[in-house]
Amino acid sequence: MAEFGQLKPSPRILLGPGPSDVHPRVLLAMANPLLGHLDPQFLEIMNETQELLRQTFRTSNRLTFPVSGTGSAGMETCVVNLIEPGDKMVVCVNGVFGQRMTDVAQRAGAAVTTIEQPWGEVFEPGQIRDVLRKVRPKVLGIVHAETSTGAWQPLEELGKLCHEFDALLLLDTVTSLAGVPVEIDSWAVDAVYSGTQKCLSCPPGLSPVSFSPRAVEAINRRKTKVQSWYLDMTMVQRYWGEERFYHHTAPISMVYALREALGLVHEEGLPARWSRHLRNYQALKAGLAAMGISYAASEGQQLPTLNAVRIPAGVDDATTRKRLLAEFGIEIGGGLGDFKGKVWRIGLMGYGSRPNNVLLFLAALEQCLLAQKAQIELGAGVAAANRAYA
Ligand SMILES: *Cc1c(COP(=O)(O)O)cnc(C)c1O
Repeated sequence: MAEFGQLKPSPRILLGPGPSDVHPRVLLAMANPLLGHLDPQFLEIMNETQELLRQTFRTSNRLTFPVSGTGSAGMETCVVNLIEPGDKMVVCVNGVFGQRMTDVAQRAGAAVTTIEQPWGEVFEPGQIRDVLRKVRPKVLGIVHAETSTGAWQPLEELGKLCHEFDALLLLDTVTSLAGVPVEIDSWAVDAVYSGTQKCLSCPPGLSPVSFSPRAVEAINRRKTKVQSWYLDMTMVQRYWGEERFYHHTAPISMVYALREALGLVHEEGLPARWSRHLRNYQALKAGLAAMGISYAASEGQQLPTLNAVRIPAGVDDATTRKRLLAEFGIEIGGGLGDFKGKVWRIGLMGYGSRPNNVLLFLAALEQCLLAQKAQIELGAGVAAANRAYA
């Protein structure tokens, strides 16, 4: 018989596009013994999780809970519940996750129109008004934080704009929730999904979603059944709502994790959390600039949670990332799609957004770049970051 021994993965510093490092209190929460999925104590934990989720999304939407599955399951949940075969949907595509939403919508039978922006850029309200006027869709989908490019989409006007044309606004907040401001009610967003493994610093496995009363009305007016049994909100809602009617077994330990992670967000306070993300991004950016490294997204549109930066000329992508991982235990992400081999994606998300990580990463990167004979001044990155912190 083979000896497999105890599972023992190496410690890592996860500074990629997700998963991000999990807060120790969240890991501890997951180690608790299981409760049954209808145990009164578990039902109380569900209530707390929903209340904290509403606070974090800044919404009073009743239909707010975590879908069993990762962020993509949340994307699919929003699409399949709002869309019936033949419904018109507009998707704004400026990176991988807009592309994914298009695919999901087409599979759900939507008549999809896409509008595009170059990778690294964001959409202007004028562009969105034009497509709404021309297409008159039931739903417009857009990504708040495009993790493939590091671009930060402004949202303030879009909900009102969609409603002017009787469209529902569907928003991806997977890499923004609990890292940068997300204001579901004041932005008049109708359907939103996120993920646990980015700025919430939980393992992957749940996808918080929320639906506005307008979206709930649209779901209630459906003529056809939701195409996915598992993701049908009208059914799942009976478990997360007052009835507590069995649909599928809740992933108990993941709900513990999310409850604890949201508790940490609540303790820190959203404004303080947003400032912390901003501060660490500014320090990282100053450090990278001192090493001659620039961002893929334009000034003023860069996400503090995901830094997509151009790989300097003469520096090899894979060599650098391999060395960061092998010698320093640091994981960063490579580029996807159009950005493959051209950018690195450095995540500073949730618990991972800390000066320790910024300073260690800059020092480690410097060593990797020097080994490849890059023209950088020794210590310049860390010094610039420290000046930014001072
Ligand atoms: C990570 C991510 C997703 C997908 O989430 P998974 O948990 O990988 O399924 C969707 N949208 C954005 C913007 C993301 O960053």
